[in-house]
Amino acid sequence: MNRFSYTRAEAVQDALERHRSDKAAAFIAGGTNLVDLLREDVARPALLVDINRLPLRRIEASAQGGLMVGALVTNSALAYDHTVATRYPLLAKAILAGASPQIRNVATVGGNLLQRTRCYYFYDVGTPCNKREPGSGCPALHGVNRIHAILGASEHCIAVHPSDMCVALAALGATVHLIGNDGARTLPFADFHRLPGDTPHIDTNLRDDELVSAIELPPQGFAAHHAYVKVRDRASYAFALASAAVGVELDDDSRIVDARCALGGVAHKPWRDPAAEAALRGETLNARTLRDFAAALLRDARAQRDNAFKIELAARVIVRAFGEATQRSFEEAAR
Ligand code: SF4
Repeated sequence: MNRFSYTRAEAVQDALERHRSDKAAAFIAGGTNLVDLLREDVARPALLVDINRLPLRRIEASAQGGLMVGALVTNSALAYDHTVATRYPLLAKAILAGASPQIRNVATVGGNLLQRTRCYYFYDVGTPCNKREPGSGCPALHGVNRIHAILGASEHCIAVHPSDMCVALAALGATVHLIGNDGARTLPFADFHRLPGDTPHIDTNLRDDELVSAIELPPQGFAAHHAYVKVRDRASYAFALASAAVGVELDDDSRIVDARCALGGVAHKPWRDPAAEAALRGETLNARTLRDFAAALLRDARAQRDNAFKIELAARVIVRAFGEATQRSFEEAAR
């Protein structure tokens, strides 16, 4: 493990200043991913700036009628918050589908967004990896790639984003609040994570000097009709092979007023297609509309050597999630 210095910040500006003092500084909060990266020598910061004392642990109503969640709120605190459990149960379910209770008790909302891929080669410093060392190559392309991407990948990286919480935040259309040396700004959740392209070492559009300060949830939480379906290799403490966060709003005739569907475990970021969702509006939810929707969402899917099963799996996860969200069965749509 690399030797590093440690300092603890007491306020946001204090944290930014301490971070600015060393080009190789990194912020640390829960540390549930960063400590692994330090141990494996994947991350080599010269300075760790501990931000746990910053006043970013509040969950409160937003001016827009939604909910503002501080970046240091733990995953457990968010999942079990009464307002989240009642207005945003999709988010609570996605969080509780991830990691373990022990990890959720210390992992923070901001850290969840910033966790790195679990690609095996990324963590093995004995192998090349474009994400770890730009230009060194991607052994996953011709290696073991069962868990890798089927959407949005590039010839430089086929890794997937590992978060469950982020899949729900993408479906809900959250907003990420950031603060840096040049002040505060916001990013729509869809613009926060990046596809790998030819810069797979850059996971997000967060600037080097910035902190995630909060996540803002919009007023619509799809509490009446929602589901988070996650398929993984074992029943707990495993990352998604494919997951879907679905929220549906229906009118009195059971026609779709609004529908959201984000996929996890299939791309470098939670995968959504707003145009495909828009095509559902006014439709009745049935096997045909769901089959067409899944086909649209997965139309650009490309398999690697070991993960062709994910294309079919993702389609079935979509169908299952819409079924759970509306308490109906559309299994015939998956055939
Ligand atoms: Fe590295 Fe991405 Fe290739 Fe994995 S898929 S080895 S993270 S470049």
